[in-house]
Amino acid sequence: MSLFVDVHCHLEYDEFDADRDAVITRAKEAGVVAILNAGLNHERNLKTLAIAERYDIVRACLGLYPLDAQKLSPQELDEEVAFIRKRRDTIAAVGEVGLDYHWEKDESRRALQKEAFARMIELSHALRKPLVVHSREAEVDVIAMLEENGAKRVLLHCFGGAAALAKRGIANGWSFSIPPNITVSSHFRKLAKTVPMSQLLTETDAPFLGPVPKTRNEPANVRVAIGRIAKAKGLDPAEAERMVYMNYRKLFG
Ligand SMILES: [Zn+2]
Repeated sequence: MSLFVDVHCHLEYDEFDADRDAVITRAKEAGVVAILNAGLNHERNLKTLAIAERYDIVRACLGLYPLDAQKLSPQELDEEVAFIRKRRDTIAAVGEVGLDYHWEKDESRRALQKEAFARMIELSHALRKPLVVHSREAEVDVIAMLEENGAKRVLLHCFGGAAALAKRGIANGWSFSIPPNITVSSHFRKLAKTVPMSQLLTETDAPFLGPVPKTRNEPANVRVAIGRIAKAKGLDPAEAERMVYMNYRKLFG
């Protein structure tokens, strides 16, 4: 029995509107037993909830993506925090949240991202849920904020930071998820080697980061990530698959 897990994807994207049922069926046929879909803003949080409701293997994560969070008024931010808080019993995690300095260069708008991220870290504590964190060229601040707030149950998805920063995350006990584009990314191959097996997870970030560049990614492709993790660790793929599944259960229940 296969036990593949995709701990981070975006099946709510329009790219899946025409064939979402088929994508889920292919995932099941490939042996995927759990998919965590991450919302990015209110509209996508609603869509994420609907998708998780419709498909038994999909679980919802509700969050605020930094580039969406920075557009909210203080009142809208309060409302989204309250919206997520009410869904404590439904969600697997708070996410996707974090900081993105790649697409945002303005300091005052970065400060708005930080404010929202701090609220989301606080919310994950209050709800006793893990945090699914995005960081792009903002790893130093992301790690500092998580450390300051004593965040323990953390998934750093598609972590692009330097090795020294990854090591800090490892020392803090946080988890890292590897996407299928490990096939073309020496960075992710290195990360899979660096992170201990007990802190590794698999994701797709579908529709992005597929094994073949510029093609739509989907949850069935987590197999590819498992194969490459097994190779990096010198493990049998079935053993890597089992260990990653155990890591998934430990972090997300
Ligand atoms: Zn994402």
